[in-house]
Amino acid sequence: MSLDDVYRQVVMDHYQNPRHHGHLTHPTLSVGLHNPSCGDELHLDLLLDEDGVVRDAAFEGQGCSISMAAASMFVDRVRGKKIEEARRVVASFKDLLRRREADRAILGDLEALEGVSQFPARVKCATLVMNAFEQAMDRVEAEGRDPK
Ligand code: ZN
Repeated sequence: MSLDDVYRQVVMDHYQNPRHHGHLTHPTLSVGLHNPSCGDELHLDLLLDEDGVVRDAAFEGQGCSISMAAASMFVDRVRGKKIEEARRVVASFKDLLRRREADRAILGDLEALEGVSQFPARVKCATLVMNAFEQAMDRVEAEGRDPK
C-alpha cells in the first residue's frame, strides 16, 4: 500500500467517522463559516479556559470530504492544547499546503491532507476549520479577554 493510499484512508476515516462532531453545551464562543468556492459550511464551538487552553471543541457542518475530514482532524488535534500550540498547528498546516517546510510532528493526522497542495482550489476546503478558529481567536482578542 502506498503512502497516498494510507493518507486517503486516514482522510476517509475522519470523513466517515468525524471526531467531536456536534455542539458544545456551553461554548466560550462559536464561529460559522462558509466556503463559497465549494459550498462547504462549518460551525465551530470552542470552550476556552482562563489559562488559554482549548478545553473542548466540536464542529458541525456540511461539505466535501476534505473540509469535513480537516475539521475532524483539527478539532481532535487542538483539544486540550494551549491556544498558542493550536496556532502553531494552523501555521504548520498552511506551510504544508504551500509546500514550505512544515513542522510535521505537530500536525498529526492533518499531514494526510498534504496532497491537497496539488489542488489550489481545494486549499480553502482544507483550511476552512482553521480560518474559523482564527476568526474566533481574533474575536477573543478584540473582546479583551486574555487567552494568554
Ligand atoms: Zn470543499
